[in-house]
Order: sequence, then C-alpha cells, then structure tokens
Amino acid sequence: MTGLKEQFADQLIDGKAFAEQLRGRVAAAVADLTGSHGLVPGLVVVLVGEDPASQVYVRNKGRAAEAAGIAARDHRLPAETTQAELLALVETLNRDPAVHGILVQLPLPDQIDAAAVIDAIDPAKDVDGFHVINAGRLATGQMSGPNAALVPCTPLGCKLLLEDRLGDLSGLEAVVLGRSNIVGKPMAALLTQASCTVTVAHSRTRDLPAVCRRADILIAAVGRAQMVEGGWIKPGATVIDVGINRIAAPTDDDPKKTRLVGDVDFDAAIQVAGAITPVPGGVGPMTIACLLANTVTAACRQHGIAARDW
Ligand code: NAP
Repeated sequence: MTGLKEQFADQLIDGKAFAEQLRGRVAAAVADLTGSHGLVPGLVVVLVGEDPASQVYVRNKGRAAEAAGIAARDHRLPAETTQAELLALVETLNRDPAVHGILVQLPLPDQIDAAAVIDAIDPAKDVDGFHVINAGRLATGQMSGPNAALVPCTPLGCKLLLEDRLGDLSGLEAVVLGRSNIVGKPMAALLTQASCTVTVAHSRTRDLPAVCRRADILIAAVGRAQMVEGGWIKPGATVIDVGINRIAAPTDDDPKKTRLVGDVDFDAAIQVAGAITPVPGGVGPMTIACLLANTVTAACRQHGIAARDW
C-alpha cells in the first residue's frame, strides 16, 4: 500500500493536508472577526446517548473548533432523553445569540425522530446543512446573500478538493454513486451548479461499471467496502472516495485487527485514476474542516458581515 502511494504520489489527493490549510484559513477568519467585530463564532454539538463512534466525532469536532478559535461546547444528554427534551434544548440554543452553529450528532436513539429535530434547528444555525430549507436553497442554487444555503460538510469538502485539483469543473461528466440526503444528493446539486453533467447512481442503477466508466469525476458514497473496482474507472478520472468502512485485516500478532477502507478498491484505482483521495486521509478530515468553515459562515451571516468563499 505504502509502495503504491509513493509510486503514484502525483495521483494522490491529500485531504489531510488540504484540511489543515482550510482550518488555518478558518482560524485566520475567526481572528479577523474577533479583532474587527468583537465576534467569536460559537458552535454547540449535541450528543444523545453513548455511541462510542459518535463520542469520538463529537470530541474531535470540539477540539478542532477550539483550535480555530471558535467557542465550542457540547451538550451530552442521556440515551433515554425524550424528543420533547431534545427539542426544548434546540429551542434554547436557537435563541442564544452566542450560538451561531448547532449540530445534533446522528444517529439519535430510536425514541427520537431525527427529522423532527433537524426541522427544529434554526436554518441559519444549521451548520450540518441538513434542514430542508438549506437543502431547498442548495437545490435551487441560492448560494449567496444572507439567506444562502448552508451546505452539508462532506459534499462541500469534496467540492473544495475537486476545485483545488481540477480548477473549473464546467462541462465534466460527474457520476455520484449514492443518493443519500447527507452526501449523494447535495453532492449532485453542487456539481450541477459547477456545470458538470451529473448522473446519480444507486442500488437500482443498471450496469453500474459502465455508468462509472463515463465519469471524469467519480464520487463514491455507498458504504460498501472497496466496491468500485479499478476497471470501473475511466483512465485519468478524478475519484473522490467518501466511504468509511471497517474491514478485518488479521495479522499473526493480532487476529482481530481491522482497518479502514473506502468504497473504492484504492490499490487498483490509483493505477488508473488521474487523481484519487485515500481512506483514511482524504474526505474525512475535510468534513470537520468544513464544519468549522460553516460555523464562521453562519456567524457572519447572522451579524450581516459578508461571508467569505473557502
Ligand atoms: P447511505 O445513506 O447508506 O446511502 C448509501 C447510498 O448508496 C444509497 O443511495 C444506496 O442506494 C447506495 N448503494 C448502496 N449499495 C449500493 C450498491 N450495491 N450499488 C449501488 N449503490 C448502492 O450512506 P451515506 O450516509 O451517504 O454514506 C455513504 C458512505 O460515506 C458510508 O461509508 C459513510 O460511512 C461514508 N461517509 C463518510 C463521511 C466522511 O466524512 N468521510 C461522511 C458521511 C458519510 P439506494 O438509495 O438505492 O438504497
């Protein structure tokens, strides 16, 4: 693996390095806002229950926000929290002028309707970009001005990586594999706005390999380990692997060892693609960096300050 990454170093899209730069730009923007406007962007992350993966995400988000100068705090609620209790907290945060961004970590326990909770978040503070108002603004191309969409962090990160690598995306064939509300659909909307010709593929798509082979840009957001084979990729294409899947990788020393892989067979794909994101170290770090960027964007808009492009 390491050998291939070295051999095909020019093909590798280093999301970790790009995310670090973005976090630096966010920190500079926060310092500027604090210095010129006395405004400290505030982010609250709400976690219900004790899902270990969610606890790690929430901790990482809080640390990254603080490192960028954002005032971050988390609310940890017990697993048996009722929907009414969570909605009451969201309402309090909606009214708190020091809070510019609210993120309710998903998944939520069964007794809580996630859609109702997302609906209750003030769209101006919805830094995950999951509220239907933000989804609608993105779908209709409302991307500037005080009522512009807040864009979901993972597709926003993918778009920034693509533009950094390819510049103008106009006219390129893009295939988005996956149609979820948090990745596939917003990704397709962003690529449509960037004037790509977009195909959204999913579990009912016929002849997926042939559809993927058309793509100058292939976004894999499926949640199936290493599903996209090298032969599905058009030579020279740019591949963004959103998938995060844990698979068994037993060794003699540790028969229970696991490792993270994406939705793309990386070792095969890097030999065909013009550029590809690794897993880990590709899209993942961009998601958190874009959450910080969205928090600053939300704070600017709430205070009538021109928001910057990232
Ligand atoms: P999701 O809600 O489960 O959606 C998966 C999509 O893939 C669905 O549209 C599904 O089609 C499609 N699909 C499933 N099996 C397929 C198959 N065999 N062939 C073609 N399409 C298939 O997943 P998600 O939330 O979008 O996440 C996708 C992946 O990205 C996961 O691995 C997740 O962990 C990862 N992720 C990573 C980040 C990050 O920060 N890097 C953030 C979010 C998600 P149907 O609609 O027809 O069922």
